[in-house]
Amino acid sequence: MPEKFDVIVVGAGPAGTSCAYLCAKNGLKVLQIERGEYPGAKNVMGGVLYKQQLEEIIPEFWKEAPIERPIVEQRMWLLDEESAITLGYKGQAWANEENYNNFTILRAKFDQWFAKKAQEQGVTLINETVVDACLVEEGKVIGVRTDRPDGDVYTDVVVLADGVNSLLAKQLGFHEEIEPAQVALTVMEVLNLPAETINERFNLEDGQGCTIEMFGDATKGHLGTAFLYTNKESLNIGVGTTLSSLVNSKMKPYDLLEYVKNHPIVKPLIKGAEEAEYLAHLIPEGGYHAIPKLVGDGVIVAGDAAQLVNGIHREGSNMAMKSGSFAAEAILLAKQTGKYTEEVLDIYREKVYESFIGKDLEKYKDATETLENHPQYLKEYIPMLNRAARTFFTVDGISKQEKQRGIFNMFMERGKIRTVQDMYRAWKVMK
Ligand code: FAD
Repeated sequence: MPEKFDVIVVGAGPAGTSCAYLCAKNGLKVLQIERGEYPGAKNVMGGVLYKQQLEEIIPEFWKEAPIERPIVEQRMWLLDEESAITLGYKGQAWANEENYNNFTILRAKFDQWFAKKAQEQGVTLINETVVDACLVEEGKVIGVRTDRPDGDVYTDVVVLADGVNSLLAKQLGFHEEIEPAQVALTVMEVLNLPAETINERFNLEDGQGCTIEMFGDATKGHLGTAFLYTNKESLNIGVGTTLSSLVNSKMKPYDLLEYVKNHPIVKPLIKGAEEAEYLAHLIPEGGYHAIPKLVGDGVIVAGDAAQLVNGIHREGSNMAMKSGSFAAEAILLAKQTGKYTEEVLDIYREKVYESFIGKDLEKYKDATETLENHPQYLKEYIPMLNRAARTFFTVDGISKQEKQRGIFNMFMERGKIRTVQDMYRAWKVMK
């Protein structure tokens, strides 16, 4: 008789490990299967990990987890070809341990640490093993087929936390082929730079971090963003656009990254830094409309596999962890009833939709499509804002009132009605 587990978790990213950790902590027999050589070996992230969702699982995790820097400043740059409108927040509140908000991390280190914590709770982790399919009997998932010899393993419930473009969820008919507009290809580099140089250039105290998100010219006006984050002794720089934008514009991701690195506002910050690593990965961008079926008999889909990413606020790892935690709660409830049916596990779907995950994704449900179909926001308005700021702040003997009139007329160049329509649409999508 082959060995049977209470839970099989596919994937050792933030979603899978959160679920595995909590299930094992509550006494379930858990098998976690990861295709990478070790957890994190194949994983990529800009690098901002939010505190709250992990703290709910492991209180004060930052005291032992391999975090890079707690973030005290978040900047947002609206770039044109040679300038930037800069917005942001810097506060000492985030510098105090009890108020930490988020941290930069390097996934290869972090995922290994988190998976080890789950193993300490009793999770059995197998690396270098691919789950090829779910085993289904009379419509119920009863196990998984792996690429190992004698690779079938049986369970009461399978958690699919296998990341963006989950082939396993697709095989079960939970979602269709993901469309190019629903996913962004992001490329990034880790650039080594001494800690003191990072502190000086980003105006940071020792052990404090800063994030910069860039819009507009960073993606040559295409739908997407670029980012620059500070680690202890390195920087993460990356850029991503939807696959549809890449195809339509014929841009090459690596060329775009070189463009960002050479942008006059970015270049001085990374000057002299040594390229240490080059990574590329997809990010779900479909949002609310792209969420697949989340539960079936004997199966739950969590994290990126369920498209739970808020691209506007670059939140993905927190949604992955929260959905992994919800999956564990649903499984523990099912264990009490002894039934792992879709009906019983449906509490997971309810929790996802009723929490900040469902609410935030619903709030921005039309944002990606609107920005894709109305390129003027990134291509025209951001350069206009830069021109307006330049005009306003240049002292040249022209009166402020005349400057204001000139700026107003510039915004009306698209036509009064179209400008008002643009403003209304933007308000509606972001409200
Ligand atoms: P993943 O982290 O993708 O983990 C899935 C795991 O499953 C992987 O380890 C994979 O190897 C494994 N796997 C897949 N298929 C199989 C299989 N068949 N068998 C066995 N194992 C399998 N989020 C943030 O919160 N902050 C950020 O700053 C941020 N920046 C990002 C920057 C980039 C460039 C990218 C690509 C993403 C970023 N995200 C960010 C999003 C974040 O990384 C994801 O939302 C998060 O990693 C999702 O976690 P997950 O566990 O669902 O999936």
